[in-house]
Formats: sequence, structure tokens, C-alpha cells
Amino acid sequence: MRDDARRRIEQVDAALGRLDAGTYGRCAVGGEPIPEARLAAVPWAATCVAHA
Ligand SMILES: [Zn+2]
Repeated sequence: MRDDARRRIEQVDAALGRLDAGTYGRCAVGGEPIPEARLAAVPWAATCVAHA
């Protein structure tokens, strides 16, 4: 499997874990809510744009 595809799967996995933990949609760095537009474009995003 290509590295980028593997990385994407890991990111999606992590996002699902955050869904279970109740922290999905929150920036992993600052803890602030990630804007809906960013989550729509990058649903597996773990941080806001400023902390990406
Ligand atoms: Zn942030």
C-alpha cells in the first residue's frame, strides 16, 4: 500500500477514535472548535488551520 494512503487511513482511524472519545471537531493543539468548513473539506483534521 502506498505510504500516503496508509497515512490517510491512520488519520481517519484517529478521527474515529476522537469521535468515540467525544473530542472530534476540537483542535488537538489549542482545544478550540475546528471550523465546520474545515471539517467539511478535511473530515479527519485533528487541528485547526492555524495549528496544522
Ligand atoms: Zn488550533
